[in-house]
Amino acid sequence: MSPEAGPAAEPYDYLIVGAGFAGSVLAEQLRSAGCRVLVVERRAHVGGNAYDTYDDAGVLIHPYGPHIFHTNSADVFAYLSRFTEWRPYEHRVRASVDGQLVPMPINLDTVNALYGLNLTSFELEEFFASRAEPVEQVRTSEDVVVSKIGRDLYRKFFQGYTHKQWGLDPSELDASVTARVPTRTTRDDRYFTDTYQAMPRHGYTRLFQNLLRGIPVLLNTDYREVLPVIAHRHLIYTGPVDAFFDHCYGPLPYRSLRFQHETHPVAQFQPTGTVNYPNDYAYTRVSEFKHITGQEHAQTSVVYEFPQAQGDPYYPVPRPENAELYRRYEALARTRTDVTFVGRLATYRYYNMDQVVAQALTTARRLLSREEAAPVT
Ligand SMILES: Cc1cc2nc3c(=O)[nH]c(=O)nc-3n(C[C@H](O)[C@H](O)[C@H](O)COP(=O)(O)OP(=O)(O)OC[C@H]3O[C@@H](n4cnc5c(N)ncnc54)[C@H](O)[C@@H]3O)c2cc1C
Repeated sequence: MSPEAGPAAEPYDYLIVGAGFAGSVLAEQLRSAGCRVLVVERRAHVGGNAYDTYDDAGVLIHPYGPHIFHTNSADVFAYLSRFTEWRPYEHRVRASVDGQLVPMPINLDTVNALYGLNLTSFELEEFFASRAEPVEQVRTSEDVVVSKIGRDLYRKFFQGYTHKQWGLDPSELDASVTARVPTRTTRDDRYFTDTYQAMPRHGYTRLFQNLLRGIPVLLNTDYREVLPVIAHRHLIYTGPVDAFFDHCYGPLPYRSLRFQHETHPVAQFQPTGTVNYPNDYAYTRVSEFKHITGQEHAQTSVVYEFPQAQGDPYYPVPRPENAELYRRYEALARTRTDVTFVGRLATYRYYNMDQVVAQALTTARRLLSREEAAPVT
């Protein structure tokens, strides 16, 4: 994939920074509408953080951590289905607590196993209610959990995990963080309950190659290196928004991860795709790819995730002061009518893949309707 040869004078309609979901979906949509598009990607591959590849043992792994596709959006699922077949997959997680591997999100079996009980769903509701602590105003991640299921389960499942993941106590984080993880009174042990839960049958990288078919992509290239020499009418930026503006208001806090990949000479390493370790070890969780991808192989590969402050920006840190700092960058971004900011890092949002796809599709429609009003000549 190399840039189209063409007369130097003819500019690209869109120069797109980043070949993750945001950049690749926009490239596909704009190119399909007849625009001239060039994608520039700093890494050696397409796919952004969803990139997958075969390791030395021949096991398909996700180098940037396990990526499970799930969505309630029929539109997003139908759109991506044009570029991949699917393998149905429902993710399951166990948490290592008090010497047992119990279902996470907390459900009926979790509580019965941990406390040696034999409650029914109805009795579990009463159990939670009897332990819940009234909180006047639910503001933080601690409030969300303690007000629903009480302090003991909060300590066992959330406090240590959140501390490791974010480097902050749940009492210092927005309610939205732990609100993402439900609590159930049923025996449903699926991690997600979305309508569509499936993995790209031939992997994410193949999906991206299909999205980007016929579109020139410059890999191993920071857009800043080529900006002065590649004529374009409009820039689409999917990298970190603070980096775009040279951190002029100071760096936006992101949480990073160190991934430790291992291959083991056994067919299966653990019972589920992911096992969480809320209270022990420096890592938060271990994921085994073969559960997720469905690959059959005599060996198996797993990844340990060690959260850290420094390194590649992975997660925007959801705290009010960070949202405030982002709003200043957002105001600056609005003044740049020659640039569109889209994606997880460019809009500083804790978005899943499907949400980024939806955001990119909406952005493409907006850009194309603008072109209809003032066609590119
Ligand atoms: C550990 C982890 C696990 C996750 N698990 C899931 C999951 O299970 N399910 C789910 O739905 N979502 C998951 N996500 C979220 C998912 O990764 C994101 O929603 C999605 O990848 C965001 O796509 P994007 O295009 O916005 O950003 P990215 O995928 O980050 O792509 C941005 C691209 O821009 C490039 N770039 C940045 N700056 C420059 C520059 N200056 N020049 C050139 N290129 C540049 C980057 O190299 C990158 O490839 C997970 C995220 C992480 C970190």
